Amino acid sequence: MCDYSSILWDVLKYMKETEGNYWGVVGAAIVDGENQMISMSKKESEGSYLHAERNAFEQFVDKFGEPSDDAFAVTTLSPCQRGSDARIGSSCTDLLVSNKIDTVYTGFVDPWQIPIELYEEYGLTVIETDDEELRMYCEELFEYFPRTVNENEDIDARQFVNDVLESV
Ligand SMILES: [Zn+2]
Repeated sequence: MCDYSSILWDVLKYMKETEGNYWGVVGAAIVDGENQMISMSKKESEGSYLHAERNAFEQFVDKFGEPSDDAFAVTTLSPCQRGSDARIGSSCTDLLVSNKIDTVYTGFVDPWQIPIELYEEYGLTVIETDDEELRMYCEELFEYFPRTVNENEDIDARQFVNDVLESV
């Protein structure tokens, strides 16, 4: 049995400690046995984002090669499934399933994506953390989206992550 929670804490620490103004507010890890790659969503240009799962996956493959059937993902936010003009590549659900990664442990289920049980229809099992503190941090990170998209607030992503994860 793998300790998903400790990996998710590592993702949050990575997000807090990583410098640079091009990072987004979602973190992900790809884990396959001893091999692990953590990364974050990244703003490639205005309106063009590399999602955290794809960023972590591409770096994983560069370093370790293709993941095995045992690989899984750990994310701060459940994987996207719906279409998005601002996203580089296919949905993270498609990316993971097409690369034999069929389990995702997440800190918070994205209310803008499909309900957690519907991921099964795409071949993905999504498990939300039962660690209330982890879930709180991941929900606070998600709040960036309604605030910037719905409320049109001008929030610097890097500063936002630092503020949310200050005590991690
Ligand atoms: Zn995505």
